[in-house]
Amino acid sequence: MDVVVIGAGVVGCTVAFELASAGRRVRVCDPRLPGGGASFASAGVLAPYVEGHESRPLRDLGRRSLAQYPAFVDRVAAAAGVPVAFRPVGTAEVATNDADITRLARSKATADAEGVTAHWLQGTAAREAEPALAAHAAGVLHIPMHAAVDVPALTAAAAVAARGLGAEFVQTAVRALAADGAGIAVATADGVHHAPQVVLATGAWSASLAPAGADPAPVRPIRGQLLHLAAAPDTLRHIVWGPDIYLVPWTSGTVFVGATSEDVGFDERTTAAGVAGLLTRASALVPALADATFVAARQGLRPGSPDDLPYVGPSAVVPGLFYACGHYRNGALLAPLTASLMAGLLAGDRSDPALAVLAPSRAGRL
Ligand SMILES: Cc1cc2nc3c(=O)[nH]c(=O)nc-3n(C[C@H](O)[C@H](O)[C@H](O)COP(=O)(O)OP(=O)(O)OC[C@H]3O[C@@H](n4cnc5c(N)ncnc54)[C@H](O)[C@@H]3O)c2cc1C
Repeated sequence: MDVVVIGAGVVGCTVAFELASAGRRVRVCDPRLPGGGASFASAGVLAPYVEGHESRPLRDLGRRSLAQYPAFVDRVAAAAGVPVAFRPVGTAEVATNDADITRLARSKATADAEGVTAHWLQGTAAREAEPALAAHAAGVLHIPMHAAVDVPALTAAAAVAARGLGAEFVQTAVRALAADGAGIAVATADGVHHAPQVVLATGAWSASLAPAGADPAPVRPIRGQLLHLAAAPDTLRHIVWGPDIYLVPWTSGTVFVGATSEDVGFDERTTAAGVAGLLTRASALVPALADATFVAARQGLRPGSPDDLPYVGPSAVVPGLFYACGHYRNGALLAPLTASLMAGLLAGDRSDPALAVLAPSRAGRL
């Protein structure tokens, strides 16, 4: 075996897929089935230019990864023999007051300066673009480049595709990592695996697996709750991003409503207050959703990092250990880029300039 990947979320599975595609012998360890962590709850919005993505490095990384998406999804789906929905429907970010209008004007100026098409639509034009919006919507910033992907499907397909290319998935928890002469010893509930290279892709749980001499990766869980509603088909035309709420339309009429952001530790529950708040805000923005069928509520622990950027790169302390964790709100968006960077890195290529921004060593002895 060449590589042990710890964690089978969207990050671990897509990394395993790229490594297996490159001919590496890969073993993936996770006590859950692929996609059973945060990736199960992800809304799959791929939108580097929406609110909250105000840092230039994050926008640049997001744009680069988004550009990889169509070909990446095609490769994974073809290798797995199953479809993976990728919908380049664009975002409509809604302004409901003067402060929003000012903020969205700034976002448009940023997009314009960075060569990204963005349309500011007001009044009738906004309503024509997104007819279901509530009357208090004053305007929308439409960014056609943005898209959505079915994250659970992508994760499952990447796992199937990796398996088809020879990767092995072991349903077991990793308890400890230790440098050994020839690489790293990965102690699991079912025995010790030795590998020259190990990828830590354990999402919100990444702080718990620090080898001797290394600091724990400063990743902490931020819970997100997400609802699935079934509305009339074509209720929404775009991903609608509003005040503390976003709505993601799928062809079947399903609308994802996300998401809460809660600092509650490793508490993996959906709560009455979380669901109620999302429903209230969703139907305030799109009144027709009050009549939608409630299908499901999901939750996941986002892997938050102090600077909102992931750790993607080699350990400076433990030879053979690589980090692919801390993707916070953008694990779906950044998955193709993370996977391709990891495939290059594990083959010895450290030339990509993005690796400087993503270096784990920026957070201490990692
Ligand atoms: C409600 C919600 C909405 C979101 N919406 C978006 C969005 O629209 N766009 C976007 O880009 N991102 C979004 N995100 C963020 C995105 O889902 C995450 O960044 C991404 O799923 C992280 O993937 P991951 O593989 O790192 O972690 P996870 O999917 O959590 O996978 C980590 C895996 O590691 C395993 N693991 C943990 N400890 C161990 C151990 N000791 N041994 C072995 N395995 C272990 C876990 O069991 C888990 O399966 C959203 C998140 C949430 C919660």
